[in-house]
Amino acid sequence: MQKNYRRCISCRLTAPKESFLRVVRSYPDDQIKVGSGMGRSAYLCPDKNCLEVAQKKNRLRKSLRINVPEKIYSDLGKQ
Ligand SMILES: [Zn+2]
Repeated sequence: MQKNYRRCISCRLTAPKESFLRVVRSYPDDQIKVGSGMGRSAYLCPDKNCLEVAQKKNRLRKSLRINVPEKIYSDLGKQ
């Protein structure tokens, strides 16, 4: 993978990380948030379909290894 490229957790598309929405499980407090921050992160296209797939298949939970509150999905939907 090229430097600074990331993969969407839903459609597996790779693109520069700036073009994705980022969800981060912050360290060490395990807060899930959208945007920047230190910790384990997952990337998602700013696309309604990818968001729906991620939600239906619990992709965020799998890649962040923690339960993701519904609010995160609605926050992502707004972005
Ligand atoms: Zn995608």
